Amino acid sequence: MRKTVFLCGIAFAFIGVVHAALPHVHGEAHLEITLEDKRLVMTLEAPLEVALGFERAPDTAEEKQKAAALTEQLRHPEQLFALDPAAQCVFAETGIESPVLAAKRAGHVHEEHAHEARAHRNPHEDHEHAGHAHQAEETHHDLRAHFQATCQKPEVLHGVDIMLFKVFPRLSRLHAVFAGPKGQRAGELDARHPRFSW
Ligand SMILES: [Zn+2]
Repeated sequence: MRKTVFLCGIAFAFIGVVHAALPHVHGEAHLEITLEDKRLVMTLEAPLEVALGFERAPDTAEEKQKAAALTEQLRHPEQLFALDPAAQCVFAETGIESPVLAAKRAGHVHEEHAHEARAHRNPHEDHEHAGHAHQAEETHHDLRAHFQATCQKPEVLHGVDIMLFKVFPRLSRLHAVFAGPKGQRAGELDARHPRFSW
């Protein structure tokens, strides 16, 4: 019951506030979708843990490789989201916000997308950890990515199949909200229910 109330709060926060502070829950991510005329914008926010398995700056060669692979993956939104083909949507460039990835960007993302890390929330609030003890010095970082597409027939765009669950096996739940000309929808998706319709 608490969960339901919580989700409503997120939906309203998304619609009313651009940079609403979202809870940082390992294994879960948020996707905001807006459709305005032919322009589709999707903003994904997830703990870096979901995408990388760690949330600090990459240190070892393996971690650096993972961070580089993630950045490259995010630049291919067609591998993350399947939009209804009839809508004829074409993705544009991805914008990535992540202080941790930014530190190791190594030229993979153009500077114009290197937004300042947003003023970070207090690392001691908005946390839920299922499996491990919370340590005082523990820090958490989020990944935020903006995907944009232009759709020639937005009127026949009725949903998106989320492929993030295959790409990021640590992702167990996605909270999605949509706002478009016909109204707003909110949904909760997982690997067994990866389609978000509106
Ligand atoms: Zn975390």
